[in-house]
Amino acid sequence: MSRIVYVNGDYVPEEEAKISVFDRGFLMADAVYEVTSVLGGKLIDFPGHVARLARSLGELEMAAPVTDAELLAVHRELVARNGIVDGLVYLQVTRGNPGDRDFAFPDPATTPSGIVLFTQSKPGLADAPAAKTGWKVISIPDVRWGRRDIKTTQLLYPSMGKMMAKKAGVDDAWFTEDGFVTEGTSNNAYIVKGRRIITRALSNDILHGITRAAVLRFAKEAQMEVEERSFTLAEAQAADEAFVTSASAFVMPVVEIDGVALGSGKPGPVAVRLREIYLEESRKAAV
Ligand code: PMP
Repeated sequence: MSRIVYVNGDYVPEEEAKISVFDRGFLMADAVYEVTSVLGGKLIDFPGHVARLARSLGELEMAAPVTDAELLAVHRELVARNGIVDGLVYLQVTRGNPGDRDFAFPDPATTPSGIVLFTQSKPGLADAPAAKTGWKVISIPDVRWGRRDIKTTQLLYPSMGKMMAKKAGVDDAWFTEDGFVTEGTSNNAYIVKGRRIITRALSNDILHGITRAAVLRFAKEAQMEVEERSFTLAEAQAADEAFVTSASAFVMPVVEIDGVALGSGKPGPVAVRLREIYLEESRKAAV
């Protein structure tokens, strides 16, 4: 079914949407993005996504193409026009089309940023069957660049990681660096020991997940212990449970790492409870 997408100020059928071959997003992955989930027709964690977009743009000295209020209006308009009940809104801002290929950044006064948004319908997004059985993951070396805190569209290695996972017959890959887990291909990684939740501290090594921030806040409110520190693969394999978080997977239990089953081999109680709390609270705060 044809969607209505948003391209540089216009709402157009997806077949009519056009981007220049000189767009720096296309030529150089000179672009940042956000993915906001939609549940019951409302946007989940929207303020967090807008704030992170502003940070990504700032770190890359890229101009914001529209105001935050306009962004909210465009998100809502696309959700309405495409009849999205459960699904996602994808947003990408690129450094635009300078009319030629050149490594130097173009002058933003003459080359405005480009912006594209589209929706993906995912009926029953919050009831993913995988949440009942949990994900199996493999570990792979983290060979991404050093500014993983900026949400750029340089997603080739994470895509390769997802394919390595698929070929290994599992659901995802966890990146490791110097023996420590950084994050998943498109999610933040956690282990649980007893009732203590352990996840890598924020730095340039990982994306500052919007779901991560919300889940850690809810965990603390529920009197769970949270420790933000790096953990090794061996520590993860010996943990009671593990899980990942992202805007589209919410809280997803992890039950196996490199062939080693965690705890009972089933989703653990902390992950299951945090998923319930996250979905309940974020639906309440949805816009
Ligand atoms: N880390 C990486 C590498 C990601 O791609 C994502 C999802 N975009 C996340 C973490 C989770 O971030 P969020 O909770 O904001 O979706």
